[in-house]
Amino acid sequence: MQSHASFSGISELQLSVRGPVFTPADPGFQSEISAFNLSTQHQPDLAFGALDAEDVSAAIRWAAEREMPVAVQSTGHGATNAIEGGLLISTRRMLELSIDPLEKTARVGAGVRWKAVVELAATFGLMGLCGSTSDVGVVGYTLGGGLPILGRKYGFASDHVIAFELVTADGTQKRVTKDENPDLFFLLRGGKGNLGIVTAMEFHLFPAADLYAGGVYFDGGHAPEVLRAFREWVPSLPVEASASLAFLRLPDMEMIPEPLRGKFVIHLRYAYQGDLAAAAELLEPMRRSAPFMMDATGPLEASQFDTIHQDPDQPVPVRERGLLLDRLDEEASEVILRHFGPGVESPVLLAEVRLLGGALAKSAQGEDIVGGRDAAFSFYMVAIAAPPVVELLPAVFDSVHTDLRPAANRGTFVNLHGHFVDAEDRERPWGPSARERLKKAKAELDPKNMFSFGQVVGLPAPEQPVVMNQAVLLEDVVTAGGDAVLNS
Ligand SMILES: Cc1cc2nc3c(=O)[nH]c(=O)nc-3n(C[C@H](O)[C@H](O)[C@H](O)COP(=O)(O)OP(=O)(O)OC[C@H]3O[C@@H](n4cnc5c(N)ncnc54)[C@H](O)[C@@H]3O)c2cc1C
Repeated sequence: MQSHASFSGISELQLSVRGPVFTPADPGFQSEISAFNLSTQHQPDLAFGALDAEDVSAAIRWAAEREMPVAVQSTGHGATNAIEGGLLISTRRMLELSIDPLEKTARVGAGVRWKAVVELAATFGLMGLCGSTSDVGVVGYTLGGGLPILGRKYGFASDHVIAFELVTADGTQKRVTKDENPDLFFLLRGGKGNLGIVTAMEFHLFPAADLYAGGVYFDGGHAPEVLRAFREWVPSLPVEASASLAFLRLPDMEMIPEPLRGKFVIHLRYAYQGDLAAAAELLEPMRRSAPFMMDATGPLEASQFDTIHQDPDQPVPVRERGLLLDRLDEEASEVILRHFGPGVESPVLLAEVRLLGGALAKSAQGEDIVGGRDAAFSFYMVAIAAPPVVELLPAVFDSVHTDLRPAANRGTFVNLHGHFVDAEDRERPWGPSARERLKKAKAELDPKNMFSFGQVVGLPAPEQPVVMNQAVLLEDVVTAGGDAVLNS
C-alpha cells in the first residue's frame, strides 16, 4: 500500500456519502484533521467527516478500490505518531448517545466523548468507566482497554462492552458481541484500530453513589517521603480504592491556579467507592506522610471526576512515553527520584505512577488482549513538545526507561504507550500470543493493510526510521488558541 499524493474519483466519494469531504486545499481541512495533541500534525491526502456507519462503509469501499490506506480519528487524544498520506476518516460528527436506565446500559456513536456520557448517565444516578479525563473519545479509549479511575473495582472499560459495530477493510458492517463474531469480540477488547472502524458501541453503566475522591498536593521537596509512604500504603488498599502519584513540574502559566502555578508539586490522586468514612480513614497515612499544600479530597459526584487528575482540557503539544511496572520497590523509587525528584532539572511535565491490580488483573467476560493485566503499576511520562527541550525528550525518556528496566513489565498498555519509536515498539502493547492472534485476524480481514496507521501489528518494518512529530512552538499554540483549532 502506498501513499497517494494524487488520486482521482473524489466526486465519486462525494456522491456515495453524506458527510463532508475535504482536500488539503479546502478551508475546513486543517480543523478536520487537527488532533488534541498539537505536536502531531497529520498530513493525510484527504479527510472525510463521516455521519454514520453507512458513510464509513462507503468511504472504506472507495479507498479500498484505490488501495488507499485509511486512518480514523475522533478527538486526537491518542494522536501520538502522525498520519502521512491516505484517507483520514473523522468520526467527530457521529454523536449518537442513548442510555437505558433500567438495564444500566449506554449506546454511543464513534464520535462521542466521555463527557457526554458522564453528564447524561449522572441524571439517572449512573456512571460509565471513564478515565482521568472525560474529554477523550469513548470508543478509542475502550478499544485500547480503557483504564478507568475506578479500575481496581470494576476492571477495564472493555470488560463491560456488550457490542461493537465494526466496518472492516472491505466495507462490510459487522455486529460483534460475545455470541456474534466471538473471535472479533476477543480481539477488539484491547486490539485498538487494527481490524477496522468501530461505528457504535454498547456497554454497561454502574451506580454512581458513594464516591469519595480528589487530590492531595505536596511541595515537590517532600517527594522522597511521599513516594516512600505511597509505596508502603498501596499494598493495603482494597479494590474499592484507586490511587496514583504524579510528579508535576507545572508551568508558570495563567491556566494553572495559584498556589500551584510554576511549582514542582507531588499530586496524590485518590478515588474510592463505598463507605465514605472508610474512604477518608484509608487516606490518613498519605495525609500524614508530609505537610501538604492543598487537600482537595472528599465526597464527589461522578460528574466531577475530571477534578481528580486535573488533566488539561485544552489541546497541548506533547510527547509521551509509557511503560508498565511489576513492582515499585526501593530501587525503582530511587530511579524515579533520581530522574524527577527535588533539585532535578527535568523537561518532563508529568511523571505518574498509577496503581493497577484488583479487578484490572482479570477480564470479567472471558479472555481479551488488553495489556497491563499482569502489571502492578502504570508509569507514564508527558512533556511539552516545544523547542528547545523537545530535542532532548527521546533521550530523556529512553534513559528513564532503561533505568526502570529491572522493575519493568515486558508489555505496555496501548492507551498509555505514547509515541512508538520503531516497528518493534509499535507492536509492544501485545504479548506474543495476542500479537499472533491479532496478526492472523488482520491478515484475513485486512490483507492489504489498509489500516496501517497508529499502533497496528504485522506491517513491514519501515525503510526510514519512524518520523517523530514535528515540534511546535508553545507560544504559537497559545496565540493561535489551541482550543479554537480543535473545536472549530
Ligand atoms: C490527557 C489524557 C488523559 C488520558 N487518560 C487516560 C486514562 O485515564 N485511561 C486510559 O485508558 N487512557 C487514557 N488516555 C489515552 C486515551 O484513552 C487514548 O489516547 C485513546 O486512544 C483516546 O481515544 P480518542 O478516540 O479520544 O483518540 P483518537 O486520537 O481520536 O484515536 C486514537 C486511536 O484510537 C483508535 N480509534 C479511535 N476511534 C476509533 C474507531 N471508531 N474505530 C477504530 N479505532 C478507533 C485509532 O487507532 C486511533 O488512532 C488519556 C489520554 C490523554 C491525552
